[in-house]
Parts: sequence; C-alpha cells; structure tokens
Amino acid sequence: MEGLGTISWTQALCATRDAALLELFFSEEPGEIARAKAICSACPLRLPCYEGALRRQEPWGVWGGQLFDRGEPIDQKRTRGRPRKNPVAVPVAARVEEDEAVA
Ligand code: SF4
Repeated sequence: MEGLGTISWTQALCATRDAALLELFFSEEPGEIARAKAICSACPLRLPCYEGALRRQEPWGVWGGQLFDRGEPIDQKRTRGRPRKNPVAVPVAARVEEDEAVA
C-alpha cells in the first residue's frame, strides 16, 4: 500500500507479501507474538503504526510493536484455562454421592 499522508507504508517491515510472516502478527502463540514484536522493533513506521491501531481500536494483532486485544494494547494474551474468579457451586446431590463413595 502506498502512502497514508506523508508515510510510505512500503517501508513497513511486515510488508513482504509473505503470508507466513503476516500470520505471526495475528497469532495466538506467545513465541510467534514475540517474533512479530521483534520485527516491529526495527520498523521505521512503528510509531504511526501504533497510533493508527489505537485510533482504529484494532480488535487483535500486533501493531507498532504492541499486542492489541479488543481495541486496547495489552502486555500478553490471556492463557486458556484460567482459574475461575468465583468457585462453582456443587449441587447438594453430587456432594451426597461423593460422601457415599468415600464411606
Ligand atoms: S510496526 Fe510492525 S506491524 Fe507496524 S508496519 Fe512496522 S512491522 Fe508492520
């Protein structure tokens, strides 16, 4: 893509047309996200890229060296299987069955 204002996006280090490289920027894997951030760290368009992502509230991906989630920059992806904030109530019948199995 050529130009947005005075910026030439052809200088973007992610503008390689390499699909495998672009997948890094939208990966769920921490290692791949880190690789995308490393590419951004050397990109001359890092600041306008980041500011644009903030303005557009990008829903996900690495932009300007920062990971975005639902329009907000975040430090890292939340892992799956995170413990619940509140314990799940166990039905009384299930507790009785557990007690009977132990006895
Ligand atoms: S800062 Fe990263 S995402 Fe933005 S243009 Fe550069 S390489 Fe691409």
